[in-house]
Amino acid sequence: MAKRLENKIIVVTAAGQGIGRATAIAFCKEGAIVYASDINEKTLQSLNKEYPNINVKKLDSTNKLAVEEFSTSLDKVDVLFNAVGFVHHGTILDCDEKDWDFSFNVNIKSMYFMTKFILPKMIKQNKGNIINVSSIVSSLRGLPNRFIYGTTKAAIIGFTKSIASDFIKNNIRCNAIAPGTVHTPSWEDRVKTAKDPVKAKKDFIDRQPMGRLGSPEEIASLAVYLASDESNFVTGIVHAIDGGMSI
Ligand code: NAD
Repeated sequence: MAKRLENKIIVVTAAGQGIGRATAIAFCKEGAIVYASDINEKTLQSLNKEYPNINVKKLDSTNKLAVEEFSTSLDKVDVLFNAVGFVHHGTILDCDEKDWDFSFNVNIKSMYFMTKFILPKMIKQNKGNIINVSSIVSSLRGLPNRFIYGTTKAAIIGFTKSIASDFIKNNIRCNAIAPGTVHTPSWEDRVKTAKDPVKAKKDFIDRQPMGRLGSPEEIASLAVYLASDESNFVTGIVHAIDGGMSI
């Protein structure tokens, strides 16, 4: 039986750990030719060691020249999975101009560069598929101490709908995934560095009605569906996957 992503060429960002890594692995298991990129070479090496079929590339998605060079090196891209993101903790009062610039740079400008340089290939192919990782904390929900994070993740939703609308006639789809809280290395760091880690962990879990965190593999399953031809009639949609947070 053919695999769900047989021979699709897929670029994944933030593939070193967490959702990006689980998604790169799920894409590979479904038969895709995966280019896994991340700024962290060490985590990429471990991914490549575990899955030698996955091509790895150290890439800072906020570096315009590097993204352009990487994109030029690829003949064809069927799917782009944009997962780079950073969580800033605090309200607007805790968000300096440098925090604002950093979060916009990492969370949305990276997506702008990756998409801007890869999209022309998709237009040429008259087929393409872009999947952007937003969050429930965005225009979908406000939560305490996620001011700049939620602002940038809301921007991703506007970005996604705009691309979906502009390139629908080019047979290019663009969707967003909006996860609730997912058990990833950066989530563990957020718990460890909280003032009261035990309370922080409990609060994260309690705010999800299912009473548990999501797993990176659960997000990856949705990504496989969106990357596959099974979702060919789906574009411009924000797909919440959040243990009931947005009910
Ligand atoms: P993570 O935060 O654990 O890892 C992020 C990865 O991004 C790291 O491997 C890091 O090296 C890489 N990275 C950072 N800056 C980069 C850059 N400039 N260029 C290339 N790579 C870079 O991963 P995660 O928690 O799985 O989050 C992945 C995405 O999912 C993010 O966009 C995040 O905002 C979003 N998200 C996560 C959760 C969650 O609870 N974990 C919830 C909703 C949305």
